[in-house]
Amino acid sequence: MILLKNIEKLICDSNTILTDVDLLSENGKITQIGKELKFQEGVEVIDCAGCAVFPGFVNAHTHLYQMLLVGQRDDLTLQDWCNEVLGTTVTALYSKIPIKERERFSYYWTAAGICEMLKCGITAFVDMDLNFGQDGIYKAINDSGVKGYVGIELADLFLSDEQGLKRDLAEIERLLKTYPGNTVLTPSEVNLCSAKALEEIAKLNKNHLLRVQIHVNETAREASQCLYERGKAELSILNGYGLLSRFFSAAHFIYYDEDELELADDNGISIVYNPKSNMKLGSGICPIRKLLDAGINIALGTDGPASNDRLDMFEEMRSGLLLQRASEKEADILSSAQMFKMATLGGAYLLGINAGALNVGKAADFCVMPLEKPHLGYGSGDIFATLVHCAIASDIRDVFVNGKAVVIDGKVQCLNEDEIKKEFSEIVKRMRVEEQNVRKS
Ligand SMILES: [Zn+2]
Repeated sequence: MILLKNIEKLICDSNTILTDVDLLSENGKITQIGKELKFQEGVEVIDCAGCAVFPGFVNAHTHLYQMLLVGQRDDLTLQDWCNEVLGTTVTALYSKIPIKERERFSYYWTAAGICEMLKCGITAFVDMDLNFGQDGIYKAINDSGVKGYVGIELADLFLSDEQGLKRDLAEIERLLKTYPGNTVLTPSEVNLCSAKALEEIAKLNKNHLLRVQIHVNETAREASQCLYERGKAELSILNGYGLLSRFFSAAHFIYYDEDELELADDNGISIVYNPKSNMKLGSGICPIRKLLDAGINIALGTDGPASNDRLDMFEEMRSGLLLQRASEKEADILSSAQMFKMATLGGAYLLGINAGALNVGKAADFCVMPLEKPHLGYGSGDIFATLVHCAIASDIRDVFVNGKAVVIDGKVQCLNEDEIKKEFSEIVKRMRVEEQNVRKS
């Protein structure tokens, strides 16, 4: 049981802010919100005087194995970057790292990514990852207390390994049985998946109850390649396999046409906006206003740490908002509150989890941020403008997931950061050597 006392500003959602209230959470859920709630026996009291409390962020699209590539190559478009940067690392992982070592690798790249995300107030995420020591990924999620949803990025045409698809599908089936609540179906993108791969994904999800996420229309080249090779736009192809549903999400969705917009609306799918990655790789700008006007749910994602290179939703909200305003030449095209909604409720809706807002009955997933700092105007301004335009990740003091403290005073509670730093650094050093070996061969 946790009682947050004297909260200066409680941001329930993008429309509702309460001032000078307390919040009680029990058994992972918010049970009371009100003025001067009574102390109960056994309750842990957290003083939130001078603080904003807001829902934890949902990073709706990332690839945590790319923690191995933070700060690498900065000058390539998506296709070249995939071939030159990502391709070499993935080849080195599969060809040079023996199976018995893989869980150690995946555990520490996941744990490192989670440490960064928790400190930035991210309490849930979707990770499109490699089929590589998968149990290590789930173990790191479980150890940390974060809500992590993981899929194997299926790209059988990219890997050009005949046995690859069979192996990946067998592993996906195992993961769906072993970690049913946390496993997502994540084909990479239409051009990288064979018809067989998409058919098998549709078969696994015949009841449309599983979450499915895929990259769609990330670059102009990708969109036109699909039209040229398959005769239809990407979302139309996916619809043909029966993949679109309430639990389907499309990452990027920059170069959509009118038919795809209608399909997105008709099927109630979600879109993930990834502004920083789209800028870094020179991919383009998602026309967000049109999606909002159509009533489509939009979530926010960082994309992988190799094409960002941060897992920071403050940066994502800020750059995503400024990008839309600059490109449309209108300051009121998108508000800070709308951006905040994408980063919280938009992601929670995409996942179908009872989070993203702070009301009685919702999950106790929240962040505590002291406002009395000069760059936050000592909390004097509009709270959404302050969070989107002024706040930085290190302003967050405490983070809770299901009422459990996962960050206190900026320190991650359930993972050993010293151990992660040591192991992760060794793994990255080894990867640079193995990548050189791949380039020489
Ligand atoms: Zn991605």
